[in-house]
Amino acid sequence: IIELEDVQLSLGDGAARVEVLKGISLTVEPGEAVGLVGPSGSGKSTLLMVMAGLERPDRGRVVLDGAELTGLGEDELARVRGRRIGIVFQSFHLVPTMTALENVALPLELAGRDGAFARAKAELETVGLGARLHHYPAQLSGGEQQRVAIARALAPDPAIVVADEPTGNLDETTGRGVADLLFGLKRERGTTLVLVTHDPSLAARCDRTVRLRAGRIAEPVPAAEI
Ligand code: ATP
Ligand code: MG
Repeated sequence: IIELEDVQLSLGDGAARVEVLKGISLTVEPGEAVGLVGPSGSGKSTLLMVMAGLERPDRGRVVLDGAELTGLGEDELARVRGRRIGIVFQSFHLVPTMTALENVALPLELAGRDGAFARAKAELETVGLGARLHHYPAQLSGGEQQRVAIARALAPDPAIVVADEPTGNLDETTGRGVADLLFGLKRERGTTLVLVTHDPSLAARCDRTVRLRAGRIAEPVPAAEI
């Protein structure tokens, strides 16, 4: 469903230029859950952005559902992304001038779905934020913002969810709730998951784990060893 072939990407200019991804090849099968692990700065978030079509590689191919993203224009890319992928960013990227409810309803409205607000409300209730619908991001705790970001990614019912540290700001119980939600989608709807995580219990629930080290894939780690 997602295929990366020898993906290379440098970011930044001048003295800040960094070769972030140094030739990554990786295939994620439909319905699979892949954990992306590795030290801080190894390129996990960047790789996730490439998979989601939000960063274009300098070299290599990114194929999503058989469509080569590298060949698409911005509009087509946005359409493929909107239809197929839910993205949870490491720093949430909520719209600060919109309430939790409006943030979650936004992608549904953009997709022209009926009942965007009812659906958004239900999704926020699922992540335990039924009492925070009308709060603005600045009025929410870090963990609450994270759950709004997860509700927003899941609301359009995407076939693929890519999430950057989806449980990073959550206590153990809330984190397990979010993980149960993600893996419930995988089980019931065959949703494909790519999860960046430093959380060993989340990584252990994935079908397999891919470890990055300095922009390259290190040895694959069987789930049983985590
Ligand atoms: P963390 O676990 O801390 O989130 P990460 O594995 O997600 O780390 P990335 O955010 O992918 O790491 O960054 C990989 C490397 O690329 C880092 O060393 C970072 O400084 C560098 N980098 C990322 N974005 C840019 C940019 N726009 N310009 C220059 N360097 C960048
Ligand atoms: Mg990161």
